[in-house]
Amino acid sequence: MSGSIRAVIDTNALQHNLSVVRARAGSARVMAVVKANAYGHGLLPTALALQAADAFGVARLEEGVALRAGGITQPIVLLEGVFGAEQLEEAARQRLQLVVHDVSQIELLECSGGAQRFVLWVKIDTGMNRLGFPPGESAAVLERLRRLSPAPRELRLLTHLSCANERDDAVTRAQLQRFREATGSLPYAVSIANSAGLFGAVALGCDWVRPGIALYGASPFDDCIAADLGLEPVMRLESSVIAVRRVARGESVGYGGAWVAKRDSAIAVIAAGYGDGLHRSLGGGAPVLIDGRRAPLAGRVSMDMMAVDVSELAGVRVGTPVLLWGPGLAVEEVARNAGTIPYELLCAVSQRVRLVVNRA
Ligand SMILES: *Cc1c(COP(=O)(O)O)cnc(C)c1O
Repeated sequence: MSGSIRAVIDTNALQHNLSVVRARAGSARVMAVVKANAYGHGLLPTALALQAADAFGVARLEEGVALRAGGITQPIVLLEGVFGAEQLEEAARQRLQLVVHDVSQIELLECSGGAQRFVLWVKIDTGMNRLGFPPGESAAVLERLRRLSPAPRELRLLTHLSCANERDDAVTRAQLQRFREATGSLPYAVSIANSAGLFGAVALGCDWVRPGIALYGASPFDDCIAADLGLEPVMRLESSVIAVRRVARGESVGYGGAWVAKRDSAIAVIAAGYGDGLHRSLGGGAPVLIDGRRAPLAGRVSMDMMAVDVSELAGVRVGTPVLLWGPGLAVEEVARNAGTIPYELLCAVSQRVRLVVNRA
């Protein structure tokens, strides 16, 4: 449809990326992280396309509830656990697994008196300094959880890496060592690697991996794009030209007159703006693909539109298709032009962007 922006989700690419992740993960099981509306790709369609995953990871209770309502039967892990008795009861009803990262969550479990035997993932803070117990407390926390009544169905351990995306082996190795020292003698399954940990240089050796961004076909690293890792972009963010106009040399385009024509120019107006999730920080000159050919932004992204200098391109007219990112224009490149990371751009795709799922 012309004049409307849409995000086309390629479920074949999702499945391809899962198989690449599996090959990389060796014998480890894969928890597909689908929080934040599956990084903007649509929570349920993404989970349905990734049913070969061994589990799903979500950040919020509501996401777990939505997956169950949509018919997902795989294990679902609440990556931040629950915050209150009601949430704990709902998590039990929905058969969700819980991360336990704070003593208040242990107390909740101790006071619940519910009959549910949870799978509990104990989070150890090895240097991220966000969530988790200090390594030195791991043994005591696990002992306390073992005494819950009813006893947990299973206890597992996880930690999160702070610098795996920077290929900074020293920090990652230090985190790994802290984790091993604290937990190496404990008989529990462990999970360490996110996407960067999985594709990074340090062999982490764990029972579960927790990829997010890699499944969506974007790189967690600054120095390469997903294709370099064998991954395929899942989202095509596409729109079309809604007007083409001539602008005389010396005229400006858009708010603030931020772009001034250095010559008589042809400007195409695209139906895509920050109301759709395109960052206003995308610099003038950042490329989009007009009918497969690169053309630079002219001026600032506005709420519903952006202007592109198509002086070099013949045949651009109302209805000509535009690719904002996807195969041919890596979201990593667009993110760099916007001064951010692919995660933020993908998650920012807004409600009014129509999600179209290309089923495998
Ligand atoms: C979001 C998240 C992940 C996935 O991270 P990626 O960098 O997208 O692979 C893994 N583990 C936890 C705890 C997370 O919150």
